[in-house]
Amino acid sequence: RPWNFSAGPSALPLEVLEQAAAEMTDWHGCGMSVMEMSHRGKQFMQIRDEAEADLRELLNVPADYEVMFMQGGATAENAIVPMNLLGRAGHGRADYVLAGIWSNKSHKEAQRYGDIAVAASSGEAAQIDGRQQQAWTWFPEPQAWQVRPDAAYVHVCSNETIGGVEFVDWPDMAALGAADVPLVVDASSHFLSRPIDFSKAALVYAGAQKNAGPAGVTVVIARRDMIGHALPMCPSAFDYANVAANQSMFNTPPTYAIYIAGLVFKWIKRQGGVQALENANIAKAAELYASLDDSQFYRALVHPRWRSRMNAPFFLADESLNAAFLAESQAAGLLQLKGHKSVGGMRASIYNAMPLEGVRALINFMQDFERRHG
Ligand code: PLP
Repeated sequence: RPWNFSAGPSALPLEVLEQAAAEMTDWHGCGMSVMEMSHRGKQFMQIRDEAEADLRELLNVPADYEVMFMQGGATAENAIVPMNLLGRAGHGRADYVLAGIWSNKSHKEAQRYGDIAVAASSGEAAQIDGRQQQAWTWFPEPQAWQVRPDAAYVHVCSNETIGGVEFVDWPDMAALGAADVPLVVDASSHFLSRPIDFSKAALVYAGAQKNAGPAGVTVVIARRDMIGHALPMCPSAFDYANVAANQSMFNTPPTYAIYIAGLVFKWIKRQGGVQALENANIAKAAELYASLDDSQFYRALVHPRWRSRMNAPFFLADESLNAAFLAESQAAGLLQLKGHKSVGGMRASIYNAMPLEGVRALINFMQDFERRHG
C-alpha cells in the first residue's frame, strides 16, 4: 500500500484492517457482522467492555475517571464540554488558551454557553529564543495564562493538527494560582501517541479518526467530579451523567467504530503499549524535522519546542513548485501531503500507524525532489 500522510481520517494499521475484513461478515463464528449486532447483546457488550479495559490499561486511566465513547466528534465536544462543565462552578465562566484553528473553534463555540475569556493566545508574532515566530507557530507558556481563579475550567488543544503545534507541559493549576480550575484538553490528534498525565487534566477528549480508529466515535475521559453538572439546555444524550451511568449506551453507540477502535487498542498493546509508540514517534519526528532543518529548500515554521510529533507542516521555499511536489509525491506512493487550506504548503501527518520506513520514504522523496528541482 502507498504511505498515507492524511491528517485525518488517517491511515490505520494494516493488521487492523485485515482483521476487520476477515471478521466482517461473521464475527467470531456468531453468524453476524459487528454492524448487525444489538448493542445490548452479549457479543457487543464484550467488545465494548474490552475496548474500555484495554484503553484504561494503555493510558493508565485512574479509577476515578470515566471512559465514555460518544458521538459528534471533537466539534460536538466544543459544545458538550461547556454545557456539562459551566454548571459546576465559576458562575458560568471558563477560560480558553488559543494556539491555532482548533482551539479557536472550541473558544468560539463555548461563547454560546457562558462567559468565556481568552486565558492566553499565540495569535501574534513573537520573539522566542532569538527566533522570530509567526502567529500560531508557538504555544503560550502556562506562566503567562490569565486564568480566572473561579473559572469552571481552562481549555487547551494539546495538538493543533493544522498548525502542527504540540503542547505537553500541562501545568499544575495550583502553581498558576488557580488550584480549583480543572484543565480540559482536546487531545484529538495526538491521543495514544504518548502517555497522558491525568494528575494534570480533569477531562481529555479526542475524536478517534487519527490514532484511535475510524471517524464516528469520540473518546471522553473525565474525572468523576466533572460529571453531573450539565446545564438544563444540555441534550440528554450529551449529558456526561447519562452517558457514564449507561456505559456509553444511553442511546445506540457507534458500534462499528468502537469495535475498530478496540482492535486498534489491541494492536497498540501488541506494539508494546503507548510508551513503545511514543519512542517510535520520537524517532520518526526527529528524522523528519532534522531533514527539514538540513535543507534550504524546505522550511518548517513551528518553534522547535512545540513542533508536533504527529503533524509536520512544511513549506517549499519556492511555492511555485507546490503542484509538482504534490503530483510527484502521489506518483511515488506518498499520499495526502497537501497542507490545510488555511495554512498552505505541505503537511505530513505521521500518526502511530505510520512506521519509520514510511517517514524515510518521504524523506528520500523530498531529498530527491530537491536535487531535481533545487
Ligand atoms: N480538534 C482537533 C485537534 C482536530 O484535529 C479536529 C479534527 O481534525 C477536531 C477538533 C474536530 O474533530 P471532528 O471533525 O471529529 O469534529
